[in-house]
Amino acid sequence: MGVLEKITSNQELRSWPGEIPLENLYTMGLAGERFFRGIKDEAKLLGTRCKTCDVTYLPPRIYCQGCFEKLVNWVDLPPQGKLETFTILNQDRAGRPYKTPRILGLVRIDRSEGALIHYIQGLEPQKIRIGMKLKAQFRSSSERKGSIQDIVGFVPA
Ligand SMILES: [Zn+2]
Repeated sequence: MGVLEKITSNQELRSWPGEIPLENLYTMGLAGERFFRGIKDEAKLLGTRCKTCDVTYLPPRIYCQGCFEKLVNWVDLPPQGKLETFTILNQDRAGRPYKTPRILGLVRIDRSEGALIHYIQGLEPQKIRIGMKLKAQFRSSSERKGSIQDIVGFVPA
């Protein structure tokens, strides 16, 4: 196929089977590294605070998105918050029904502008209410690996 060849129908497209070896490495970044170390090592949620804008970021940021100030004030945030919204899952991604429905919620973490999406546990779906207080339930220290999965889910506070 020449450079000047113009394909006007997708039936004319040609392909060559093969593989391209690609490897990717994504880092958590400075703020993510510290955030997940806080979860892993101390079972706590860390945020960063911009005093100028009176904003506390969770997950933390190293620069304020409002004023672009470098953020150096790290704060411990309570591992709890209010349920902002939720959805009930009745089947997995393959369409197989769950024995017990699973609940995913957006929990606005207290004293921050941030929120985490996670499983809501310990509640029947019909008892869940927007605005209810929930707290994070962490895995034991020996089970934590430095990921959001170190939180098992949020349960009623
Ligand atoms: Zn700011």
